Amino acid sequence: MKRREFLITTALGAGSTVLLESCGHSEEKIIPLLISEEQLIPGAEQWTASVCRQCAAGCGILVRTMMGERETIVNGERVRLSVRQAKKIEGNPDHPVNRGRLCARGQAALQVLYNPDRVKTPLKRVGPRGSGHFQPASWDEALELVTVRLKELREQNEPHTLLFLTGALQGPTTTVIERFLQAFGSPNLIRHDAFAPDPVREANRLTMGYDAYAALDLERTNYLLSFGAGFLETYLSPVQYSRGFGHMRQGRPGRRGKIVQIEPRFSLTAANADEWVPVKPGTEGALALAMAHVIMQEGLYDKEFVSRSSEGFEEFRRFVEENYHPDRVASFADVAAARIRRIAREFATHRPALALAGDAATAHTNGLFTAVAVAALNALVGAIGAPGGIFFDAPPPLGPLPPVMLDDVARRGLDRVPLGGAPRSALTLAEQLLSSQPYPMRVAFIHETNPVFTLPEAAKVKEALDRVPFIVSFSPFLDETATLADVILPDHVPLESWTDAIPVSGTGRAVFGIGQPIVAPLHDTRSTPEVLIQLAKALGGSVAASFPWESYSDVLKTVARGLFAARRGSVVAEDFDSFWDQLVTKGGWWDDAVPSPIAFRTPSRKFEFVIGRKGSGIPEMETEPQFAGDGSDYPFHLIVYPSVAFGDGRGANQPWLQEMPDPMTTACWGSWVEINPKTAERLGVKENDLVWIESPYGRVQAPVLLFPGARPDTLHIPVGQGHDAYGRYAQHRGVNPLKILAPLREPRTGSLAWAATRVRVSKAEGSKRIVKIGFDRRHTEAERR
Ligand code: SF4
Repeated sequence: MKRREFLITTALGAGSTVLLESCGHSEEKIIPLLISEEQLIPGAEQWTASVCRQCAAGCGILVRTMMGERETIVNGERVRLSVRQAKKIEGNPDHPVNRGRLCARGQAALQVLYNPDRVKTPLKRVGPRGSGHFQPASWDEALELVTVRLKELREQNEPHTLLFLTGALQGPTTTVIERFLQAFGSPNLIRHDAFAPDPVREANRLTMGYDAYAALDLERTNYLLSFGAGFLETYLSPVQYSRGFGHMRQGRPGRRGKIVQIEPRFSLTAANADEWVPVKPGTEGALALAMAHVIMQEGLYDKEFVSRSSEGFEEFRRFVEENYHPDRVASFADVAAARIRRIAREFATHRPALALAGDAATAHTNGLFTAVAVAALNALVGAIGAPGGIFFDAPPPLGPLPPVMLDDVARRGLDRVPLGGAPRSALTLAEQLLSSQPYPMRVAFIHETNPVFTLPEAAKVKEALDRVPFIVSFSPFLDETATLADVILPDHVPLESWTDAIPVSGTGRAVFGIGQPIVAPLHDTRSTPEVLIQLAKALGGSVAASFPWESYSDVLKTVARGLFAARRGSVVAEDFDSFWDQLVTKGGWWDDAVPSPIAFRTPSRKFEFVIGRKGSGIPEMETEPQFAGDGSDYPFHLIVYPSVAFGDGRGANQPWLQEMPDPMTTACWGSWVEINPKTAERLGVKENDLVWIESPYGRVQAPVLLFPGARPDTLHIPVGQGHDAYGRYAQHRGVNPLKILAPLREPRTGSLAWAATRVRVSKAEGSKRIVKIGFDRRHTEAERR
């Protein structure tokens, strides 16, 4: 697809959910990695399999390369060579997550590779921290600076003061990070992904015993009841869900499933649903229980599942009958009781039916309550482990790594109380860094996460990190968090390195995606797992002994031996070498087993209706949402949403994504605040007028976009713009609404309650025309800014 076609396609309003069909190349035409550069024919294209790392969904990709001359780094020297150049990315038709489809962000990964603002060599800070003043260093010098600090920690018996902050990774890269920390002697690994729906995962653990996100069998469901989850936008695995959605709608002649989307904003997902329910923010869990009330009272639930496979049903029923009568819920959820009853009946009588929760619905202080309530709806209609319902993947049978070697220093370090609270949260971590409790951190490693941008200013992440004397970033870009580093050890981007992905939301079968280096590194960068192996070797002793590999590909080969030994799935071979070749050629391994009934892993080995159960600890779970800002002073809910182009903001440095119009408003290259036209009239503002949106924690300015799909009491701002750093395409463009959110959290998971802030609006001076594709193509660079 040419760039122009790309823009036109996206301008048609499909956003990230455009399913860009695969190139149609059969697997036989994917040339394996073992064909060396010398064997490549100039002018002939080659397609090579890998995995997309633009989000945690783990889609499989094919990358088209052609020979071309360019500068590259060989043994630290910059030389001009004729090498493979990446030209185009498509979906891998064999990969079970996306089956040949890809979203716009996946396509735009080329602009990560070729981005002119990449960190091109290791850097060391020369100006005040945060000033952005760095000077290039050689890898030897940079690694020496880090090694000296790490050695100090171990010599002083303080290995626990090494913090590793990373993103939502799963798979062997995480294993290398965990292993490094363990061998070193630190219990302090914190994962931070601002929009990960942690309450959903926790609800799955409490009710079903799985600390994981479920696979959704959308292809076979008849009725999908979604509480807030933007499954056609950015929720967990949008390409996979879009494919399931397409099949649900058009892949079953004579049968068209129904979708009900319950959320305050008329999102792209709501626009594709049969029915949109603009619920009052924070009442989604109560609404789910009001539907459960109807289903139980009218005897519409799956009695066999409930009696055979559940625990705590009677207590749950009593609790719901006492507290969540549809008439009562209607009075505060802003959904008519008759509508609640009708949807509940439809849901229970059009099985297979499936309910899911996510995004803003679970981003309240009562997000876990909502997620558990929605899990209960699935139990009531027998959707768990049944066709058209939800499943959990078995993990891929990866081979074990040898045991980690621990010396006394490491053992003592690992005995220390970890930071981040329980469960670990970046918000709690920031508080602990600020108070130096339970102990101060001395070195921080930051990898694939940008908490300074994605957490509210009131969380004081910047100030908290400033308390850490030595910060090492592995970021390939100078984002807001990397700017605070003392040393930057820039990672390769995924197309340059060995990479892997275990999908965050399953397909109902075990999947392990793998990617080989598609092109030679453009700059003097190194893969982070390899850097950790090098650091371990430099530290010597038991830390070095825990890393008996020369490179990260050796680690991947070790874990792949488990897949080889399984002798089933998409790759089976007589010997390991042929297995490895096929694994890499295909871009991964996936089990061929069909989804099987769930073996519950709860204490009762059944589904547990935890709501209302005495002694389970769950009644203390917040049922009522808490909001920052009194309703009289701050009359509007501010519900931000991750942009289909930028996600949590990481896509903002890719100009294709900047030019991609928002699918609901066609706006691009900036920020806006969506206001219901009636509200705007009452406030005396019109489209493009600049307004201040002010919370108890700060204010941002943005132009008004009149949006009938906003509730009159709710405002929406897309997330992703407003970077203070992160390169020329992202920097100083639009506003970051996350800045003004309250640092409220869902208490049990510690995740940010990003939908729990109230705001007020006031008119600012002037106006700013919002750039809208399809409405006015004559926008100028000045207007874009
Ligand atoms: S959903 Fe995520 S992993 Fe899949 S193509 Fe899009 S950005 Fe890549």
